[in-house]
Amino acid sequence: MREVKVELGERAYPIRIGAGLLQDGAALSALVTGQHVLIVTDGNVAPHYLAQVQQALAGKTTNAVILPPGEQEKTLARFGDILAALAALGASRDATVVALGGGVVGDLAGFAAACWMRGVRFVQLPTTLLAMVDSSVGGKTAVDLPSGKNLVGAFHQPAAVIADTRTLDTLPLRELRAGLAEVVKYGAIADAEFFAWLEGHAEALIARDPEALAEAIAVSCRQKAGVVARDETEQGERMLLNFGHTFGHAIETEQGYGGLLHGEAIAVGMVLAAKLSTQLGRAPAADADRLAALLVRLGLPIALPPGLGAPALLQRMRLDKKAVSGALRLILWRGLGQADVVRDVPDTEILSLLR
Ligand code: ADP
Ligand code: ZN
Repeated sequence: MREVKVELGERAYPIRIGAGLLQDGAALSALVTGQHVLIVTDGNVAPHYLAQVQQALAGKTTNAVILPPGEQEKTLARFGDILAALAALGASRDATVVALGGGVVGDLAGFAAACWMRGVRFVQLPTTLLAMVDSSVGGKTAVDLPSGKNLVGAFHQPAAVIADTRTLDTLPLRELRAGLAEVVKYGAIADAEFFAWLEGHAEALIARDPEALAEAIAVSCRQKAGVVARDETEQGERMLLNFGHTFGHAIETEQGYGGLLHGEAIAVGMVLAAKLSTQLGRAPAADADRLAALLVRLGLPIALPPGLGAPALLQRMRLDKKAVSGALRLILWRGLGQADVVRDVPDTEILSLLR
């Protein structure tokens, strides 16, 4: 088992990574301090892992909410369903909310845990690679509104994260590949050595080699944990984690639900950010090529999907939540492992890149 500590003072918590961790009933049960537990999961995950988790928590008063799967369910209505289940359970201040699933389940359950009686204990059991390497670190929780993604939410750190790599065996391959895009991001923005390690282990990762996956998850979590500990509320360094995301979010919103997955859009976005850096004379073209080549080997897209207009994408980028009053702040790089924040990139440069 690997362990990464997220250092946040009194709210520090461990991320445990390993094969078969969900089978360790005693360890899971120890994470629940009170009597009441609500397990939140979805219809794809429940048939595989819910019984196992319920078994582990057999000594507690548990209830489960099984949400319909999918990003389009990350709504206030589903958030309300979770609160209703907490009420039905008779959950008090010492209740624990357990999220068993991907980022959607984690965001919804985490937001409910942040709000129920102004905040109760939250434990994350991520079952997607993306949730293991991204949403398990940092304490961001949210729901979408019709007017935009993640518009309502809270920071609420989990008490612990248990990433059982065996749950990735049932994850659809496309979702696994999408999660690997965020893993590549960590190498690209700050760790050229890890990037080279990924180049050497691309096939093992796609084949779900448990050791390779555990290593990739641990390195990714350690890196994000370092950034979050230094900049919890995203004033500075944490912005670098948005490498590829201003482009990626624009693609996602332009396409709507049913287009590229988040990780796929971020793969395209990272290549665009790297190419723009080359175009501006800030970084070597060879590094952009290496990034694109690795993403291709991982089965990820690297070019804009057809039918998206450059002006429309640029407009979306301006509306991105991360932009400050319309001024674009892009995360570009000087080359592998060296991301930085750049303001005032001329529109003409962005438009010619997107054409
Ligand atoms: P993320 O935001 O982490 O990518 P989602 O919560 O959107 O995650 O999950 C992606 C899809 O994969 C959903 O359809 C979900 O039900 C499904 N899923 C999540 N974990 C597993 C798993 N371990 N095995 C099979 N399907 C899973
Ligand atoms: Zn992301």
